[in-house]
Amino acid sequence: MTAFGYGAASATGPVRDINQDRWLADGSLFAVADGLGGHQGGEVAAAIAVDELARHEGLAALDQLVDLVRAAHTAIRAEARADRALAGMCTTLCALADLAPAGGKPRLGAVNVGDSRLYALTGAELDQISDDHNMVGEMIRAGQLDRAAAAVHPDRNRLTRVLGFEPEVLVDAWELRAVRGTRFLLCSDGLFSEITDAAIAGVLRDNDDPAAAARALVDEAIRAGGHDNVTAAVVDVLDGLEPDGSGLVLAARPGAGPA
Ligand code: MN
Repeated sequence: MTAFGYGAASATGPVRDINQDRWLADGSLFAVADGLGGHQGGEVAAAIAVDELARHEGLAALDQLVDLVRAAHTAIRAEARADRALAGMCTTLCALADLAPAGGKPRLGAVNVGDSRLYALTGAELDQISDDHNMVGEMIRAGQLDRAAAAVHPDRNRLTRVLGFEPEVLVDAWELRAVRGTRFLLCSDGLFSEITDAAIAGVLRDNDDPAAAARALVDEAIRAGGHDNVTAAVVDVLDGLEPDGSGLVLAARPGAGPA
């Protein structure tokens, strides 16, 4: 069992009427979901997603985390079929979880669908681990767009993958080394649409306490305009492997389809 320090914060912001972001932080699994669609649909989809993940009882392997995401996808679609008012609802989902050690080595699992993000702060450096499943993210990865052009692209927010919408969902998944001192951030797009990665890194470095860091990030995004709901969950790895300069990612499984 890896030990974590953690805290999360979320805000509706001054522009939106309701908060359709949801988060989960239960001591071994951490998630952010950003719901979309309909009158109430977005918040229902996001709530179903985090509720499905909350059912875990300790994860032996990355596949079990991916299976939970698929279960959430199926549950959202079933609910959307059952209630016409919820038709078309969907959500992003980004999660980080403790996995049982492999070969005596502590490890973590991560999953992502959509444009919420998982970052890791190691030392002074902030790296985005997840890929954004939106138009500009796909174009950047295809080499068709650079980051400066992406920031002002009219379709930058259009999602290419979400949970609960199409019949099949592709889930990106990672197995990570659990390295003591790593600070992870899970957040909705309402954070990084308002403040730069450099500003995010600065807030993460300036606030030792993870709950204070999460609150400070949300406050910064609101001060910068708060055009969308904002959610941040900050997770510190308190034990685990000694830092040795090798990377966090043991294995990446982009867009794994049904097993
Ligand atoms: Mn959002």
